[in-house]
Amino acid sequence: MPELPEVETTCRGIAPHLTGKTIAQAVIRNSRLRWPVPDELPSLLPGLTIRSVTRRAKYLLLDCDAGALLIHLGMSGSLRILSAKSGYDSELPQKHDHFDLVLRDQTILRLRDPRRFGAVLWHAGDGLQHPLLLNLGSEPLTADFSAAQLFEKTRGSRTAIKQTLMNHHVVVGVGNIYANEALFLAGINPKTAAGRIALPRYEILVQAVKQTLQLAIEAGGSTLRDFVHSDGSSGYFQQQYWVYGRTGQLCKKCAGIIKHIRQGQRSSYYCPSCQH
Ligand SMILES: [Zn+2]
Repeated sequence: MPELPEVETTCRGIAPHLTGKTIAQAVIRNSRLRWPVPDELPSLLPGLTIRSVTRRAKYLLLDCDAGALLIHLGMSGSLRILSAKSGYDSELPQKHDHFDLVLRDQTILRLRDPRRFGAVLWHAGDGLQHPLLLNLGSEPLTADFSAAQLFEKTRGSRTAIKQTLMNHHVVVGVGNIYANEALFLAGINPKTAAGRIALPRYEILVQAVKQTLQLAIEAGGSTLRDFVHSDGSSGYFQQQYWVYGRTGQLCKKCAGIIKHIRQGQRSSYYCPSCQH
């Protein structure tokens, strides 16, 4: 599943090909995504110019003055750029290529989504005001996500820190992998009640979250060029993990055994001797 680093990398990968360009055509091949793709897009979008491509949580926002196109990659979605220069004429849309945005310079932004949990939505006006984006928590890579704020928000909370990190009303885009890895780096047991963690430990945790996401984004940097004319799958990063998915294996720090528990239907992995 595309996590925040993949979406951020997608954003950086597609932005140079779209920004300042005018839309010629929108092609909906299958509107049955997580929510129906609005059927007015083919008449609404042509002639609009894309002013910017940004990300909020795991949504991509293509701001077009009159409104914004919101794209979410869901469980299995990927975007890529087909450019006339690289000979896309020979490449016909495949079964899971549900949506194309065709620009006047003949560049195509193509959404492929086999499991169809992704979304293409339109919001008239400021895209950040779309109901799905209101009430979201802090962006983890900005100063808005800070130890002081996390400390403040969690006073009195008996919710486990792992679930708190994954609550998008608190902070967005910290998926299961990154929550597990950041808690390991910070030496915090995922079951610890968020309200019992002191400010200095939150300082370490917040840095660990930022660092974990940043490293993943950097790992994805090398795949940026593949947004042009790739099979679209290279946007998902394979990484080496400290604890994620390593049940029963040796801890890379202390050689203890990595444990697995379920928390709120999600898998948590941790080292009982490194994380308290
Ligand atoms: Zn350990």
